[in-house]
Amino acid sequence: MSAQRATIHHLDSGSSEFPKTEVAKGATLETGSFAPAPCMTCHDSGMEVVPGKGARRCHCRLEQQQLKLLERSRIPRRYENCTLANYRLASNNGSQLQAFNLAFKLVSEFPSVDRGLLFIGPVGVGKTHLSVAILRELIEKTGASCLFYEFGSLLKEIQNSYSPISQISELTVLLPVIEAEVLVLDELGATKPTDWVRDTMMQIINARYNDKKLTIFTTNYLDRRRSERDETLEDRIGVRLRSRLFEMCRTVEVEGEDWRRRFDRVEM
Ligand SMILES: [Zn+2]
Repeated sequence: MSAQRATIHHLDSGSSEFPKTEVAKGATLETGSFAPAPCMTCHDSGMEVVPGKGARRCHCRLEQQQLKLLERSRIPRRYENCTLANYRLASNNGSQLQAFNLAFKLVSEFPSVDRGLLFIGPVGVGKTHLSVAILRELIEKTGASCLFYEFGSLLKEIQNSYSPISQISELTVLLPVIEAEVLVLDELGATKPTDWVRDTMMQIINARYNDKKLTIFTTNYLDRRRSERDETLEDRIGVRLRSRLFEMCRTVEVEGEDWRRRFDRVEM
């Protein structure tokens, strides 16, 4: 797998996006046709002949593979264009810069990375943006299998699988979550922490921990209490799970005003 990744990475550098179709001057571009243009490099054979070196997989097949990985990653449409390059740093926000740097480092060093990231912070500081950006960059650079789940939706899908009329089993839902090379679990702690929720979270996270799989979490719950009424992350997910996350991830606290609101204001 690592050899294949290295090849993909190597071939990617400098290769164009997609085979471009020539359009004659004055011609009208037809819309509504989605048939892919034939590949000018390999004429759709999938193999490219490199003079003096032999044959290698054509870039068009690698791009198709990346598209498949992106489709399977379940990145929500709302976040589908999030990259590291378009992560907007508020000025004078050291914690955002630190979060960005750690995301960048993880992408650069993957697969030689033994700990994931836990982004802690209020709504709107870009935790989900950074997490999605990591998945996208890893798919594009390494061909790793990546998966995104909002934790609450995952729990709902598991619950739905218990229904007698369900077409899918619990295992069908859980297997990709446990097996993905890199998993993002967004909004950890947002679901009301019943015993079942905690057991299920523990089961998923332990399975990934035992397999040494990389997981990136986001949560709105802080580790420390700011007021009497505040709930901490530990209150929401339990002591055992919080301490497991310490082992699996670097904790990054992202502070700052809600940048979505701030930038909306600027752009108006
Ligand atoms: Zn080709």
